[in-house]
Amino acid sequence: MTEQSVEKHSFQAEVAQLLHLVTHSLYSNPEIFLRELISNASDACDKLRFEGINHPEFYESDPELRVRVSLNKDNNTLTISDNGIGLSQQEAIDNLGTIAKSGTKDFMSKLTGDQKSDAQLIGQFGVGFYSGFIVADKITVESRRAGTASHEGVRWISAGTGEFEVEQIDKASRGTDIILHLREDALDYLETYKVKQIINRYSDHISLPIQMQKEVWQTEEVAEGEEPKGGQMVKTDEWEAINSASALWTRSKNDVTEEQYVEFYKNLSHDFEAPLAWSHNRVEGSTEYTQLLYIPGKAAADLFTREAKAGIKLYVKRVFIMDDADNLIPNYLRFVQGVVDSADLPLNVSRELLQESRDVKTIREGNARRILTMLDGLAKSEDEKDQEKFKQFYQEFGAVIKEGLGEDVGNRDRILKLLRYATSNNDEISTSLADYKSRMKEGQKAIYYVTAESLSAAKNSPQLELFKKKGIEVLLMADRVDEWSMNFVHEFDGTALQNVSKGAVDLGDLQDAEEKKALEAAAEQFKPVVEKLSDSLKDKTKEVRVTTRLVDSPACLVTSEGELSPQLIRMLQQAGQAIPESKPILEINPEHPLVQKLENSAQFDDLANVIFDQAVIAEGGLPENPAEYVKRINSLLLK
Ligand code: ADP
Ligand code: MG
Repeated sequence: MTEQSVEKHSFQAEVAQLLHLVTHSLYSNPEIFLRELISNASDACDKLRFEGINHPEFYESDPELRVRVSLNKDNNTLTISDNGIGLSQQEAIDNLGTIAKSGTKDFMSKLTGDQKSDAQLIGQFGVGFYSGFIVADKITVESRRAGTASHEGVRWISAGTGEFEVEQIDKASRGTDIILHLREDALDYLETYKVKQIINRYSDHISLPIQMQKEVWQTEEVAEGEEPKGGQMVKTDEWEAINSASALWTRSKNDVTEEQYVEFYKNLSHDFEAPLAWSHNRVEGSTEYTQLLYIPGKAAADLFTREAKAGIKLYVKRVFIMDDADNLIPNYLRFVQGVVDSADLPLNVSRELLQESRDVKTIREGNARRILTMLDGLAKSEDEKDQEKFKQFYQEFGAVIKEGLGEDVGNRDRILKLLRYATSNNDEISTSLADYKSRMKEGQKAIYYVTAESLSAAKNSPQLELFKKKGIEVLLMADRVDEWSMNFVHEFDGTALQNVSKGAVDLGDLQDAEEKKALEAAAEQFKPVVEKLSDSLKDKTKEVRVTTRLVDSPACLVTSEGELSPQLIRMLQQAGQAIPESKPILEINPEHPLVQKLENSAQFDDLANVIFDQAVIAEGGLPENPAEYVKRINSLLLK
C-alpha cells in the first residue's frame, strides 16, 4: 500500500461564499440539514440500484440498502451512513468542493447579496451537503465507491472555511459516512427523540429504511431482594427503521397526507414553495403505471429557454431510472414536476428506447390528459381558492400551454378551453373563448382577435378601429407564441376564429348594405389613386386596396389569409431564421384627409411612402429605411 498522505484543497470560490453565509447567518430553520443529508444518502442508494443493474458485483454481498443515523454523546457527533454508491477520492474532491449541480446551484443563482434575505433563503432551500455546517464546526466524510478495493476509501475533512483535506483510507464497507462534529449550540441534535421527529417530518417518504439504534430502558442493577431505584435508556446493537420507507407514490392516496405530498414535492423539485395542485393515480390497462404530477406555483427561470428540462423522474418498479424524462410529458407541459413509475418498461431502458416505446407514448398521453383535466377542474371550480390558483397558474404558464395548440392536436379543444385573454373591452386577462361567445353581438359570425407584440399595441392597433366604432369586442393576444399557435386554430365550439389583420374584414350581417355600397363607391372613386400607389409601392406591397376597417388611421397593413404576418416574420428573423419574402397588403382609408390629399399631391411618392411606413410603425415595426422616412417627413413638413 502507498504511504498515506493528506492533501489540502481550496473550495471553489462560490462554495466558500456559500459556506460563509451558512455559518455566519442567523439561521431560522437549522434542522433541514438532516433532510438534505438524508436526501443525498437516498440519492446515493438510488445510484447504486441503477448502476447495480449492469454491475451486480457493486452490491458486495450487502444488498439491503439503507441509511443509518447514529448519535454519539461522548464525542458530540451525529453520523449519517449509507451503503449507496459512495465516492471515489476524485469524486469527493469534485463533488464536495465545487457546486456542480441542481439544488445548490439553483440556490446560488437566487442569492441577492443581502445577508438577511439570503439567510432566509438558505433556510428554505437547504443547499445540500453544505447545510451540514449549520450545525457542525467540522465535517468528516468517509467513503468508498461501490466495487473498489477496501484500501481505496477516502476521508474528507473540512471546518467549513476556505479549504478541505483529503486522504486515502481503508474502509471495509462501501458507501458514505457523514460525520458532523456538532457545535456547542447544536447539541440537542444528539437527542434521539428530536432526531426521530425531524426525520418523520421531512424524510418519511424516502423509499428506503432510515434506521436508528434501538434503545431500551435499562434499570440499575440492585442487590437481590431490593427494589430497583432507577434506570436509563441505553442503545442496543439492533437497528430499527423509523420511517415508513415506502416510496410515497406507491402508497394509496388515502394514506398520504397533504403535508406529505407537499414535502415530497419540495424535495423532488428543489422548490421551496408549495405546489399549486397535484394528481396521484395508479393507471391500469394495457400499460400500467403510477403517476404523481404536480403543478408548481412559479415558473422556473429557464422555462422559455432551450435548456428548460422536463420535470418528470422515471422509475421502473420503484427503481430510479432517470431525471428529466422528457418523453413522458409533452413539451408544452414541461413545467410539470413529478414521478412516473412504470410496471412495463425494462430496467435498462435508455433515452433512445424511450423515444420509440409505445408504452411511453401511452404514458405521455395519459399524463397530458391528467394535467389538462386537473386544470379544467381548477378553472371551472366555484371555490374561490381554486379560482385564485387557476389565475396564478395562468399568469405563470398560460403562454406555455398555448404551444400545445400546435403540438398536441388531440387535446387542442381542451387547451382552448383553458385560455384567457384581455379584450378590447376588458384589460384583465380573464376572458375565455366561451365568455367571448356568450357576449357576441346578434348577427356576429366569428370570434375576432388581434395579435401584437404587447397588450397596448394590440389595444391601439388601427385594425380595431371599425370594431370599436361598431362596439364589437376583439380578443387581444400579446404573447409571443400567439401568432404562431393561432395558425392552428380555426374554430372554437363551432364558431370561426378570425384574425382581424388577416384577409379582408367581413363583418357579415354587422355591416349594413349601405356601408357596403359606400365602400364600393369609394373603391371606384379611388381607383386611379390606388393604381398609382400600387406602382409607387410595388417593391413593398403585394396589393393596395380601399378599406372600411379604418376610422382614425390613414392606412394599415394586412396579410393574406394563410400567410405569415409581418410580426411573425420579424419574430422568426430575430430568431435567425431565413424567411421566404412575403409582402403585406396596404389598405387605405378613403375617409382620411391624408389619403384624400394623395389625389392631387405634387409629392405623391413621398406621401405614399410615408403612409406605408407609418402603417409599419403602427404595428410595432420599424421603417425599412428610417433615415429616408425622416427625410420624406421633413420634406413634407417644410412644404
Ligand atoms: P445535490 O444533491 O443537489 O447534487 P448536494 O450539495 O446535496 O447537491 O450534494 C453534492 C454532491 O455530493 C452530490 O451530487 C453527490 O455527487 C455528492 N454526495 C453528497 N452526499 C453523498 C453521499 N452520501 N454519497 C455519495 N455522494 C454524495
Ligand atoms: Mg442533495
